[in-house]
Amino acid sequence: MGTHRAPRGTTTQRGYGVNHVELREQWRPHVEAGRVSCARCKLPIKPGEPWDLGHDDHDRTKYRGPEHAECNRGASKRVTDAITPAIDPPATLDPKWDE
Ligand SMILES: [Zn+2]
Repeated sequence: MGTHRAPRGTTTQRGYGVNHVELREQWRPHVEAGRVSCARCKLPIKPGEPWDLGHDDHDRTKYRGPEHAECNRGASKRVTDAITPAIDPPATLDPKWDE
């Protein structure tokens, strides 16, 4: 078997000093005070609402900031297939009246 090589790049890049948990703890008082808006949907995160620290979509080593847990979990929005407007065209097909 081949030798296991370490991935290229340094692990001592800047920005690795603060881990996820620490950063989250820094945000927490602000979020719980209701002063922070979701980084994704831009709506305020209400105190007591579940939230996560969201990553930057382009740079996974960066954090965008707090997001609703729901927004963070699935960028896939709920497909609302429940409400399908059943618009049946009225049967007024302009029949030709034979007068
Ligand atoms: Zn959100």
